[in-house]
Amino acid sequence: MWVQTKDQINDCIKTFERGVAYVDLDAIISNMDSMHSLLKKDTRMYAVIKTNGYGHGSLPIAKALESVPYVKGYAVATAEEAFELRADGIKKDILILSYTFPYSYEKLIAEDVRITVFRKDTLARLSAAAAAVGKNAIVHIAVDTGMGRIGVTPDKNGLSFVKEALDAPNIIVEGIFTHLARADEKDKSSALEQLRRFKGFLDDISKQAGAVIPVSHISNSAAILELPESYLDAVRAGITMYGLAPSDEVDMDNISLKPAMSLFSHITYVKKVYPGQSISYGGIFTADKEMTVATVPLGYGDGYPRTLTGKGEVLVRGKRCPILGRICMDQFMIDVSCFEDIKEGETVTLLGYDGDEHISAEELGEKSGRFNYELVCLIGTRIPRVYTLHGNPVLALSST
Ligand SMILES: *Cc1c(COP(=O)(O)O)cnc(C)c1O
Repeated sequence: MWVQTKDQINDCIKTFERGVAYVDLDAIISNMDSMHSLLKKDTRMYAVIKTNGYGHGSLPIAKALESVPYVKGYAVATAEEAFELRADGIKKDILILSYTFPYSYEKLIAEDVRITVFRKDTLARLSAAAAAVGKNAIVHIAVDTGMGRIGVTPDKNGLSFVKEALDAPNIIVEGIFTHLARADEKDKSSALEQLRRFKGFLDDISKQAGAVIPVSHISNSAAILELPESYLDAVRAGITMYGLAPSDEVDMDNISLKPAMSLFSHITYVKKVYPGQSISYGGIFTADKEMTVATVPLGYGDGYPRTLTGKGEVLVRGKRCPILGRICMDQFMIDVSCFEDIKEGETVTLLGYDGDEHISAEELGEKSGRFNYELVCLIGTRIPRVYTLHGNPVLALSST
C-alpha cells in the first residue's frame, strides 16, 4: 500500500523495524544528471525500470523522473509493468524491451506503450490489434548484433523485416535498437564490433529502404560510462541509475554515482554464548570463547542471500560485525562481542552506510556469489520501501 502524508509515513516507519529499504530519489536523479552530462547535447535517456526498478520500485522512480526534460521515457520488460505505470499516471514514453505476448496488444496500443518487434507474426497481429483499437501501434525494432537474445539479423533478412514493418498498416516505427553483450568489459572490441554492425545496418536501411528511423539506441549503463561512440538518439540507463557498477571492470572513478538503496533491520535479541555452544542450523559455527550474539530478524526469505553464511558482515554502530552460522529464512545471528552494552532494538545496516563504514551491493554480491543486479532485484516484497527526497521521507510502500 502506498502511503504519502508525513504522519502516515511516520506511522509506517514504526512498523518497519523488522526490515526496511530506503531508496534515495535524489541519488537516482543525480546519477541520471551525471550520466546525462557525458552525453551529446541531443541524446535523450530511457530510464530502465524493469523488475520493479531493479527492486527499488518502478513507480516512485518514474514519478521522480517525469519532469526531467532529457528523460524520454522508461524501459520495462513486461506488459504488466507498463500497465502499472500508466495506471498510476505515468505519461512519458514506455518501451517494452522483451518479446511481448499478443494478449496484451490492444491494451498496450490503447495506452501508447512502445512494443519491441523482431518476429514477422508480431507485425500482422499488431496491425490487426491497432485496427481494432482505432489507433496506431508504435514499435521499436530489435536488432541482434551479437547478443544472441532477440532481434532481427543486420542483413538482407533483417532489412526485409524493417521494410515490412515500415509498410505495415497502422504501425509506426519509432525506434530501432540493439543490445551490447560485453560493454562492461575492459576490452571494448566486441562492443565496438556490435556498434559497427548496428551503424552499418542503419546505413543500409537509409540507402535501401529510404527511411531514417527517428530514435536509434544502443548504449546500456556500461556503454554510457565508457563508450561515447555508442551515444545515438537515446541511451538506456539501468544499473548506474541506481548507483551500482555494471561490472568490476568498469571504471567508476570518473563519474560521481551514489547507491540509491540502503537496507536496515533492528536487533531483536541479545545473549551471551559460552565456549562450545553452536549457532544456527547445522552447527557449522561453534563459539571457542565467550561471545555476545545478537539476532537480526531478516533472512533469505527477504532476499538476503543464504550464501553469505560464514562470509557476510553487517554494520552496528558504524562497526562491522560478522554473521555467525547459517542464515535462516527469516533471521540470522551476528557477533556483537566488540560492544559492552549492545541493546535490543539497535539498528543493523545490511546495505549502505553507517557512519564512515559502508556495505555495498558489490561487496554483498561478491561475498554471496550473486550478481549485484540480481541482489537488489531480489530484495523481497516483504521488505517495505521508504522513498526520500531532499533527505525527507516522501512516500512509503508498506509490505501489506
Ligand atoms: C536491462 C537492459 C538494459 C539496462 O542494462 P544496464 O546494464 O542495467 O544498464 C538496457 N537495454 C536492454 C535491452 C536491457 O535488457
